[in-house]
Amino acid sequence: MVSLGQPQYRAGQLAEWLYKKRATSFDQMSDLPRDLREQLAGRFSLSKTEIVRVLGSRDTTRKFLFRLGDDSLIESVLIPASPALYGSRSDRRTICVSTQVGCAYGCKFCASGLEGFSRNLRPNEIVDQIIATERESGEKIDNIVFMGMGEPLANFDNLLSAIRIINAPWGLGIGARHITVSTSGLAPQSRKLAEQPLQIRLAISLHGATDAVRNRIMPINRRYSIETLLAAGDDYVSRKKQRLTFEYILIKDVNDSEEEAHLLAKHALRLRAKVNLIPYNTVQGLPWSRPSQDRQEKFLAILREHEVPATLRREKGHDIEAACGQLRLQTKRELQLR
Ligand code: SF4
Repeated sequence: MVSLGQPQYRAGQLAEWLYKKRATSFDQMSDLPRDLREQLAGRFSLSKTEIVRVLGSRDTTRKFLFRLGDDSLIESVLIPASPALYGSRSDRRTICVSTQVGCAYGCKFCASGLEGFSRNLRPNEIVDQIIATERESGEKIDNIVFMGMGEPLANFDNLLSAIRIINAPWGLGIGARHITVSTSGLAPQSRKLAEQPLQIRLAISLHGATDAVRNRIMPINRRYSIETLLAAGDDYVSRKKQRLTFEYILIKDVNDSEEEAHLLAKHALRLRAKVNLIPYNTVQGLPWSRPSQDRQEKFLAILREHEVPATLRREKGHDIEAACGQLRLQTKRELQLR
């Protein structure tokens, strides 16, 4: 605003229109002078994030597929009250957002990585997933998890810019403790995140308690071993004085053995982490499947024997809640067939 020869308070007015009143055109910004609105419209454009598909219904998990300005497709998932999962008891609506179009990390079980990496999302494209979802659902989101498509820490600067907007009182006003960033294993970037002054939460998508298992399903582990990753986790915990979360997708005959459960418990106790167990959602074209219910419960019981706080996702309707990246992949394939 200053560079446009405007008084500074205009920036506050603009933020109010963007993030509180959610204006969709500069024309609506009625307390800005007309010539300024015209100037802004000539130099900038408001994001065009369009919802193309919604799966699920109120009170269940809902998936939103968005089309961005360049026709890229990304997904967000809106998860109803589930205090055991992320955040605190007061969190009612959690959204899982994407940070990249596609993903370069190629985890073997993941639909998002199947077609490789296209590009990083810009900060406005990250924030817009929240705004568009609130608009469509009519609900106020109070908890954010960066666990959708892409590796958030590989888009570090844009992620942080988005988090600042999400957190700021002039932005979406969501507290840092209600924002969780997940990583598949970028140890150095986790340390960099620990240096940020914000009390953002960190979740580690571990999915294996040994290098042998992680090497098999997560190529990133060949660059940063479990020990390197856990040491970065130690650093995060000691700087932030927070509890970490381990995400652990249970995959039949890959990472669901009792031995693996005992080792996972050992890692969790070391970092005072809690563990979210997620039974695998089948991805078309990939060979993996979820373990039997008994085996899932046994795995959970072992963690609890060690007094590790752990949850096992038991919701029904996992066809809708289907693995991250699937809706996008399906839609892309359908569009190509047309
Ligand atoms: S699990 Fe995450 S990091 Fe791994 S390929 Fe999928 S989106 Fe990328």
